[in-house]
Amino acid sequence: MRMRKKKHGAERLAACSAILCERPEVPFTGESGNFPRVAPIRLEIGCGKGGFSCAMAEKNPNVNFYAMEKVSDVLVIAAERAMGEADRRPDNLRFLRGDAATLPEWFADGALEGIYLNFSDPWPKAGHKKRRLTYRAFLTLYFNALKAGGFLALKTDNDGLFDFTLEELEFLGYTPLWQTRDLHASPYNEGNVMTEYEKQFSEAGKNINALYVIKP
Ligand code: SAH
Repeated sequence: MRMRKKKHGAERLAACSAILCERPEVPFTGESGNFPRVAPIRLEIGCGKGGFSCAMAEKNPNVNFYAMEKVSDVLVIAAERAMGEADRRPDNLRFLRGDAATLPEWFADGALEGIYLNFSDPWPKAGHKKRRLTYRAFLTLYFNALKAGGFLALKTDNDGLFDFTLEELEFLGYTPLWQTRDLHASPYNEGNVMTEYEKQFSEAGKNINALYVIKP
């Protein structure tokens, strides 16, 4: 997501320090004390403006959520939204400024119960495929961070990225538990929380692809 440079970005982010985590010296485990309650941990990678993680945290009080975003000017929008009203601020949601490539520096192997990838940048040129967040090297990081029985859930408008993801999963020996080319018309839509991009694309009539893989 490209944004015009935000004024006072650093100060605005600093004002959200209550819900931001710095990159730890020792990677977080499932028990790390960033949350008031010990609970299963899920991570959204590339949270954008944060609507999905905010809504998921509210809907699932017995799960602790991290939302990771690499672009500070986008992260600040998400974090300010979550800071919003102090009395309604979810205590099970924390934000991380970082790149998916640094995942092992944030999370110990097996720390996560679930990972969400929503509308990741498609990087359509063949020469850029290693930048796609579902390139095999990224998927390997995700599956290392997941515990056995944990899940990777992906949604994308981009049919090419979806096909590529299925190929990369197959290369690594993973078969999705389910997949659909039209999430909103499928049985898997029950309980679905729409992201900002998802609302835009589906309002424009685009089918939404989705898949769900479990780590054996
Ligand atoms: N998930 C949101 C935003 C999708 S746009 C939604 O569905 O509405 C993709 C987001 O991923 C952008 O905000 C972009 O900055 C972020 N992103 C891209 N590459 C990333 C990476 N390597 N690590 C972390 N975030 C990344």
